Amino acid sequence: MRIVEKSCPQEKYSAKCPYTRTPRFVVVHNTGNDAPAENEAAYMQRREEEVSFHFAVDEDKAVQCLPLDRNAWASGDGRGPGNMYGIHVEICRSLSGGERFTKAEQNAARLTAGLLKRYGWGPGQVKKHQDFDGKYCPHRTLDLGWQRFLNLVKAELERLNKKEEPKLTEAQVKEIARKEAQAVFAGEFARRNPTYDTLEQAPEYWREEIRLLLDQGVLKGSGKGAGGAVRLDLTRSEAKAAVLVARALKSRET
Ligand SMILES: [Zn+2]
Repeated sequence: MRIVEKSCPQEKYSAKCPYTRTPRFVVVHNTGNDAPAENEAAYMQRREEEVSFHFAVDEDKAVQCLPLDRNAWASGDGRGPGNMYGIHVEICRSLSGGERFTKAEQNAARLTAGLLKRYGWGPGQVKKHQDFDGKYCPHRTLDLGWQRFLNLVKAELERLNKKEEPKLTEAQVKEIARKEAQAVFAGEFARRNPTYDTLEQAPEYWREEIRLLLDQGVLKGSGKGAGGAVRLDLTRSEAKAAVLVARALKSRET
C-alpha cells in the first residue's frame, strides 16, 4: 500500500489543526460515502470548516493530509482527548461497502499497525470514533465487527515485527556464537600479547636485556619510529623469548 502525502496548506492550520501535540493513539473512522481517498483529502482541505483528519485510506493507498504532531477535528469531542491526541484514520468507500471497502479496511489495518510500531504502541491504542462522542462511527467496520478489525491490525503488526526479526535457524545461531567467541578470543589474545614499539613500553625487568640485544644488532626492530628511535615491533612473547636467550648466553659467558 502506498502512502501519499498531501500536505495541508499552512494557512489552513488555524482551521484544520491549530494545536501541536504528541499523538497518543489511533482513532478509526468510516467516511460514510463512496469517494476515493484523494477526493476525501482534497475536499477536507478545501473547506473552511473545522473538520479534519490525518489519513484517508482507500483500496489502493493512504493519503496523509495533516501532520501527525498536530491535532485534528474529527471525533466530536471538542478539545477532548480524541481530537487532541488521536491520529485520525478515515476508511473510505464505506457507504456501499463491498470489495473496495474490504480492501480499504485491510489497508487501514496495515497503516494502523505501522503507526503502532512507529510509536511503540499496542493494540489497546486503537480507538474508534464512537469511544469519544458516542457517534456510530466507523459504521460499517462496527457492523462487520470491531474485534475483527482489531484482529486485522494485530495480524499486520505481527507481520511487521516478523519482517524485522527473521527467525534464526539453529545453524545460524551457532555461527553467530562461534564468531562472537572468535572475536572475544582475538581481543583476549591481543591483550595478553601486546606489541611493544618502544623500549619504555616493554616491562622494566626486561629492558636491560632488550637494550643489549639492540646494541648487539640481534634485535633490529622495524625502522625508525617517532622521534627517530628504533621501532621495536616486538610482541610480548617474542620479547620474553629474546630475553630468556640473552640471559642464557650471559650465564654461559660468566
Ligand atoms: Zn468518525
